[in-house]
Amino acid sequence: MIKAILHALVLMTILAPAHGTERAKNVILFIGDGMGPTVLTATRLQFLGPGGQLEVDKFPHLAKVRTYSLNDYVTDSAAGATAMASGMKVNNGVIGPWKHRKGNPEKPVLGTTILELASKAGLATGLVTTVESFHATPAAFYARNKSRKQYGEIVNSMFKSSADVILGGGDRYIQNFEKYSQEKTDFTITRGGFQARDCINKKIVGVYSPASFPFIIDRPKGHMDLPRMTDMALKCLLAKKKKGVFLMVEAGRIDQALHARNIPAALHETKELDQTIKNTLVLLKRTGHLKNTLILVTADHDTGGLAINGPVGTPKSLLRKENGKYTSIKTRHYSGKGPDFRVLRLSTDRPDMKLEEIPFTTHTGTDVNLYGMGPGSDKVKGTVENTEIFTIMKNSLGL
Ligand SMILES: [Zn+2]
Repeated sequence: MIKAILHALVLMTILAPAHGTERAKNVILFIGDGMGPTVLTATRLQFLGPGGQLEVDKFPHLAKVRTYSLNDYVTDSAAGATAMASGMKVNNGVIGPWKHRKGNPEKPVLGTTILELASKAGLATGLVTTVESFHATPAAFYARNKSRKQYGEIVNSMFKSSADVILGGGDRYIQNFEKYSQEKTDFTITRGGFQARDCINKKIVGVYSPASFPFIIDRPKGHMDLPRMTDMALKCLLAKKKKGVFLMVEAGRIDQALHARNIPAALHETKELDQTIKNTLVLLKRTGHLKNTLILVTADHDTGGLAINGPVGTPKSLLRKENGKYTSIKTRHYSGKGPDFRVLRLSTDRPDMKLEEIPFTTHTGTDVNLYGMGPGSDKVKGTVENTEIFTIMKNSLGL
């Protein structure tokens, strides 16, 4: 009798979800680089009006995320992505779970990433970005380097990574790899679109721009975009019929638009990410994967300290079309010549300085949003460390 009870208890322990978390078969992590909470509000105001709903507004779970790095209140993209990818806080500028070991600097402390754990456990894995595929955010999932600027070394790490699909920009470096590198790789490089059936038995690096993608507002018609890349990557990973899927999708240019104080560009990039999430949910539902997929949406940090200030009325367009081209907010608001731009203005850390005298804006240390849906997303609540995002994904996959 006692033996039977013990046997039942052991069985219950084995079958119980890890850490009380519901198990997910797939995890998709969406990252808006620099997408602070106000950028999302501004995107909603601009495109949907104050009562509108972005796709992320419909998510059932929401938390605030602390983004500080190991050595600064304000993180850079490398340390921010590393915390989410590996659960390890590192110094700004460091790519991947890599830490100096005291007394033995030659042998750094190395961690592992969610992509590597997932690959090892038999899941199909992928990375998608609108910047270079060896840029800080995607690189934090496969590389370890004390400097994010070691692009040559990071590209080599990319071509040795356990990912199945890596899509983004950065062709200049990838061409160099093809021409000069002695490193062997299992990846096939493509510069065109592909079908799921073309990649079932292949590892693919897709490259669609010499460097970062052009901003959406400048992008030529027919240029590859985030929704299309995400669709190709997810269909490819699902077609492999492995134990599940891990996919990271980054809208990488929100940050760069905000650095350049190009608010319209930032809002269009954010809108594209939201549309990508919407399309992904439709695809998951259609293929019967929605219920067993954990979906998280977050940012590595805020950029630009965007503020929505008065006078508040019906939001008007933030975009001004001149000679067929959109011009950005830039100095217009502050010079008082742009009534269309009243709804938004950039706050600065130098209130004594006029905005137009500041050449660029920087990251801020504010908390960012984390949205969650699907198995394991009940852990998305309260205020969490950015490293907790790794833990939530890991536990939900039972890794
Ligand atoms: Zn960033």
